Amino acid sequence: MNETANVVIIGGGVIGTAIAARLSRRFDDVFVLEARARLGLGQSTRNSGVIHAGIYYDIGSRKAFHCVRGRRMLYEFCRNHEVPHKKTGKLIVADSPEPLEALKKRGDENGVEGLAVIDGVQISELEPNVACSFALSSPETGIIEAEALVKKLEQVAVANGAHFLTGTPLLAVEHTNAVTTLRTPRESFTARVVINSAGLYSDEVAGMFGYNAYTVYPVRGEYAEVVPSRRNLVNGLVYPMPLKSGHGLGVHFTRTTSGALLIGPNSRHVASKEDYESDRLGLEFFFESGREIVPLLRLEDLRLSYSGLRARLRSASDSSFADFVIERDPQNPDVIHLIGMESPGLTSCLSIAESVSEMIPA
Ligand SMILES: Cc1cc2nc3c(=O)[nH]c(=O)nc-3n(C[C@H](O)[C@H](O)[C@H](O)COP(=O)(O)OP(=O)(O)OC[C@H]3O[C@@H](n4cnc5c(N)ncnc54)[C@H](O)[C@@H]3O)c2cc1C
Repeated sequence: MNETANVVIIGGGVIGTAIAARLSRRFDDVFVLEARARLGLGQSTRNSGVIHAGIYYDIGSRKAFHCVRGRRMLYEFCRNHEVPHKKTGKLIVADSPEPLEALKKRGDENGVEGLAVIDGVQISELEPNVACSFALSSPETGIIEAEALVKKLEQVAVANGAHFLTGTPLLAVEHTNAVTTLRTPRESFTARVVINSAGLYSDEVAGMFGYNAYTVYPVRGEYAEVVPSRRNLVNGLVYPMPLKSGHGLGVHFTRTTSGALLIGPNSRHVASKEDYESDRLGLEFFFESGREIVPLLRLEDLRLSYSGLRARLRSASDSSFADFVIERDPQNPDVIHLIGMESPGLTSCLSIAESVSEMIPA
């Protein structure tokens, strides 16, 4: 069967679904092709569920812009659509104030509201079990139930008339007589506009269009969970200083919307984009990382939990947070590629959707 669509979005993660919700306000015939049996089974529900404030990212970067704007949009969306979330605030802890002041300066310049460096007395009022001399307090940071967000965005898109085809991978792209055809196992599509929002596979989908400029590397993040009887060790979100390598925010404590207390994620390159479990780190790793922040943590408090794979672009220097890529295909200007959409992609999804919409004329 051959379908003609105004817009086809490849990938039903939180970003593809947010784009569908936005574009279906403007266009009929918005289709989302999702390879897996359900939406959101890639990065979008295997993450920390943190609504980031926007502190870490290079000034002027897409990550900084979309995180700050997307956070504000997300809180409003969650309030209006009853998506479980909470503005918990967050602490980034350190032994001296200098590195925190530098982070605060970057956050201030990115437009993050309310950042303050606080001392040990103020820390113990918020987090009595956290042993640290100084912290950067970020009152705008929060948590969200990512699965509920994906479901709500889908509902909004469907109410606007969008179509979601799960279990429908894009297999190939063919160009004949200036017509681009998207092949899936069942149907084929011709579309006016195509959005590549395929997460870990966005480089390979770009390759189907003949665009091979980027390579996405799967970088696994593994979590441990604190047993329910010890969850109260931490009230909210407590992070160390971000890794000097630029490859992560550091193993942190996250109290989720369901009340669970997670420790993680680490950051390790794996060979396969489907390898969530092989050679998992032992509990000792999480214990050693966690007790640097919470000395009362015991090894027997921990259980292994889930893991996720980040869709990471290797930056030119390989030592900084590579920025989001949101750009037109050089050969097919009606095709827009979203590549390297790792953290803070969950926080940023509504802002990214807004920008993608602005790239598409009526
Ligand atoms: C460990 C970890 C922790 C994170 N923590 C946070 C956090 O606390 N806060 C935050 O803001 N962000 C966080 N992130 C990042 C966030 O999860 C991602 O930025 C966001 O989920 C990206 O959404 P997406 O829709 O681009 O990708 P995905 O959710 O990966 O969706 C891509 C979809 O494309 C589908 N697909 C792939 N190939 C094809 C094809 N050929 N045809 C059809 N469909 C295809 C996949 O099945 C998948 O469902 C974290 C990520 C990880 C891994």
